[in-house]
Parts: sequence; C-alpha cells; structure tokens
Amino acid sequence: MRITADREVCCSAGQCALIAPDLFDQSDEDGSVVLLDARPDAEWLDVLREVVSRCPTGAIRLEEDPGA
Ligand code: SF4
Repeated sequence: MRITADREVCCSAGQCALIAPDLFDQSDEDGSVVLLDARPDAEWLDVLREVVSRCPTGAIRLEEDPGA
C-alpha cells in the first residue's frame, strides 16, 4: 500500500503523528505533517484507516494494494 500526505491542506492537528508516530511526524516549523514511510507494511492497514478517518482535513490518502 502507499500513503500520501498533502501538506497544503494539512491543518497541523497532529492526529496522524499521535496515532502512528512511526509513520508520521510534524514539521518543527509549522506543525504540518511529515510522512516518514510512504510504503508501510500491510500490518499497518488498520492503524492507517484510523489515521485517515481522524484527519480533519482529508490530507492523508491511503492506496491499498489490489486484493489486499
Ligand atoms: S491529522 Fe491530518 S491535518 Fe492533522 S497533522 Fe496529520 S495530516 Fe495534518
């Protein structure tokens, strides 16, 4: 699977970094999302679905592998 994080629409709420600190961080400058791993293992899928649902701006997109 693949994750993208759009820093242009991110409002620096920090839900992503709170829920999955291994995958997301926040910029020291403005708190916007910093993606640490764009292609995490499948075991992260449930956590990522939660991140996507909790992000208030829809900045995070998750592309699941076909058949996953
Ligand atoms: S949860 Fe969404 S809005 Fe909040 S920091 Fe992460 S990407 Fe940005």
